[in-house]
Amino acid sequence: MASRSRSIMVIGGGVSGLSTAYYINRLWAASGVRDKLDVTVLERSGSAGGKIATERHDGFVIELGPDSVFADGGAFTGLCAELGISGKTIAPAQRSSRACLLLGGALKELPRGLTSMLPTALMPILTSDILSPVGKLRASMELFVPRGRGGDESAAAFVRRRFGNEVYERIAEPLMCGIHAGDPARTSMRSTFPSISAMEARRRSLILDAASRGAAKQAHGSRPAGFVALDAGMSGLTDALARALGGSVRTNSAVESVSIGNVAENRHTVVLRGGTTMRADAVVIAVPAYDSAALVEQSDPELARMLNSIEYRSVAIATLAYKSADVRERPVGSGFLVPRIEGSRLSAVTWSSMKWAGRAPPDTLLARCFFNDAYGGETLYLDDDSLVQLAHGELAKLFGIGAAPVLSRVQRWRRGMPQYTMGHAELVGAIADRLHEHSGLFMTGAWIDGVGIPRCLSNATKTANEVFDYISNEMVS
Ligand SMILES: Cc1cc2nc3c(=O)[nH]c(=O)nc-3n(C[C@H](O)[C@H](O)[C@H](O)COP(=O)(O)OP(=O)(O)OC[C@H]3O[C@@H](n4cnc5c(N)ncnc54)[C@H](O)[C@@H]3O)c2cc1C
Repeated sequence: MASRSRSIMVIGGGVSGLSTAYYINRLWAASGVRDKLDVTVLERSGSAGGKIATERHDGFVIELGPDSVFADGGAFTGLCAELGISGKTIAPAQRSSRACLLLGGALKELPRGLTSMLPTALMPILTSDILSPVGKLRASMELFVPRGRGGDESAAAFVRRRFGNEVYERIAEPLMCGIHAGDPARTSMRSTFPSISAMEARRRSLILDAASRGAAKQAHGSRPAGFVALDAGMSGLTDALARALGGSVRTNSAVESVSIGNVAENRHTVVLRGGTTMRADAVVIAVPAYDSAALVEQSDPELARMLNSIEYRSVAIATLAYKSADVRERPVGSGFLVPRIEGSRLSAVTWSSMKWAGRAPPDTLLARCFFNDAYGGETLYLDDDSLVQLAHGELAKLFGIGAAPVLSRVQRWRRGMPQYTMGHAELVGAIADRLHEHSGLFMTGAWIDGVGIPRCLSNATKTANEVFDYISNEMVS
């Protein structure tokens, strides 16, 4: 076959799209194929990064989206090494190892030994002042609770079944709502917390499983996994990816639709806003599920319907900075969660300047205050000033703050958090089956099976392999 150049369009310049493009290029370079491959990333907004966005003002580093990554030696660690930014990763400050919970208007320390959202170490459960004696007894009974009946189960039902209602209301629900912005009564346990479901499948009791794995890790001397950030902010990751991709990232390039070519033609047409069309051998859609639906609506309404049925929740972050001298009660630890039973409109607060070095100038404190629609959707419709006032009011009450913040910034992510509701795995399977009918069309992103950056990177690796196999096979056919 005569050699010809190949073109791949990746739609979406968030971490999923950028890393997919990067991995495809890497596979192509390693394959030794001499044909030219053009991988272009088309991004709607004026800059790449998607939800990973860092701003810097007057010595403050403000994360508008993620502030850290759970690094377990997997995809994130490997990518940082390849991009030459491993040296820029930082661990949380020692002083921030405590995380708190607001209960009855007072801050109390969360028990240590949490696995994701659950207390899986017995002693911290027994000594915690978050649970009542009855709640502690019920949580300890987890050791004897049989396995579930199999099949999908809501996260709320799972936690109540294994640990009882107090652990659910006071620990698991705040962590789930605060972090995933979801409704645990509708969240699929299997899809949202697969590693916890696996613990039950493996050993029945989560407490027993955590103890045996902890002992095994100690015996092997393995380094504990944990959260890390990048010294100048998380956009260091997407900036490095964009740099590695060079001029092939095109910003201000909103895609309006993808018209899927017929099988014989094997080529797809990408239509940009303004009407420009581009032909590609393969197209990777790396945007949220509802945006993906809009792109394929005309070519495959059934695929669009399935994508549109994936739910999203909205979140807003109000970042506030204070002079330390204005804060009477110095905060302890990395921040606090607010259970819904407290009736507050705030879901969580992270003290960024306590958690990470270099986030704020000396003698100042930087707080990230989270709001989401699990705590009352109407809050998210407040204007920026009102959200700042709301966050400031809560902090002022708890920490005796006598002056207004010296800086504030509100960031909203409308439909920013995909929700894996009951039956999500089956829905994603059906979408994958449907996609197989359109050779040369691929999808990746946070809506599939993990919102965390490492999971987005693992999915990008898988998608890049599929694209590479497709393009390589197409060349010899
Ligand atoms: C507030 C918040 C805090 C988070 N905290 C963490 C954390 O601490 N750690 C962690 O690991 N994860 C965290 N996450 C999750 C993580 O940030 C996201 O899951 C991840 O960044 C998603 O990346 P993505 O590339 O799949 O999607 P996105 O980042 O949404 O990128 C999609 C891109 O596609 C573009 N796009 C959409 N439609 C089109 C179109 N038609 N044409 C062209 N371009 C288009 C968009 O402009 C966007 O840039 C957080 C998320 C949020 C919202």
